[in-house]
Amino acid sequence: MKALVGVKWVLDFSVKVRLKSDGTGADLAGARMSMNPFDEIALEQAIRLKEAGAVDEIVVVSVGPRPAADILRRALAMGADRAVLVRSDAPVEPLGVAKALKSLVERDGAGLVLLGKQAIDDDNNQTGQMLAALLGWPQATYAAELAVEGNVATVTCESDDGLETVRLTLPAVVTADLRLNTPRHISLPNIMKAKNKPLEEIAPEALNVDLRPRLKVLRTDEPAKRRAGVMVASVDELLDKLRGEAKVI
Ligand code: AMP
Repeated sequence: MKALVGVKWVLDFSVKVRLKSDGTGADLAGARMSMNPFDEIALEQAIRLKEAGAVDEIVVVSVGPRPAADILRRALAMGADRAVLVRSDAPVEPLGVAKALKSLVERDGAGLVLLGKQAIDDDNNQTGQMLAALLGWPQATYAAELAVEGNVATVTCESDDGLETVRLTLPAVVTADLRLNTPRHISLPNIMKAKNKPLEEIAPEALNVDLRPRLKVLRTDEPAKRRAGVMVASVDELLDKLRGEAKVI
């Protein structure tokens, strides 16, 4: 079975976000970018499924500008077999990405699509759900455990009430949550080996997909600055302040 994993090129989680002066979004110029952390978890799970014999090929896909190829090379070094960059120099939205992934699923065939639960730049949490709807496939979101046997995937999903275990008939879409696994480190020999793995670049038009945004960002604002904290000398002083100044108890 072929597994397709979507990986997004996002601002590194450790970078402090600066806004562009025209207020249209985050300023990415010169900023450190990396693979969306939930996508690294989705990829790790695909590699584990391959090691367990449930998957025989892992295709990683990113929809983004040419430098997004960096995370595809990283994915190849981690253990993916081949990579596809759907080239888009403008920011993309979940519906466009879902359509591009659908088109690749139909072109290449896949029994399982693994995505992150959300991309940490826009926090949309929509692409997996939209892709499942477009394909007419079952979906399990916020996966904390995933096992595949034959054409059945058993997925334990995180929910506000605890954990919910569902059984899906493949093909299906699964989105990864934080507790699914801890992604492996990449070894130097694997980085060298990845240089010989195929990385295809393709235009969205070749997939018959229109990635033009449907949404318009009206403005973006920085979060309010946090006020400096104060050190208190005792628990009594803390309680006094919570009662008298903050009025929260
Ligand atoms: P989102 O719906 O934007 O929060 O993204 C959810 C998941 O969809 C991500 O964790 C990725 O696995 C996948 N995804 C979103 N955008 C892209 C993209 N541009 N390229 C590849 N995968 C993406």
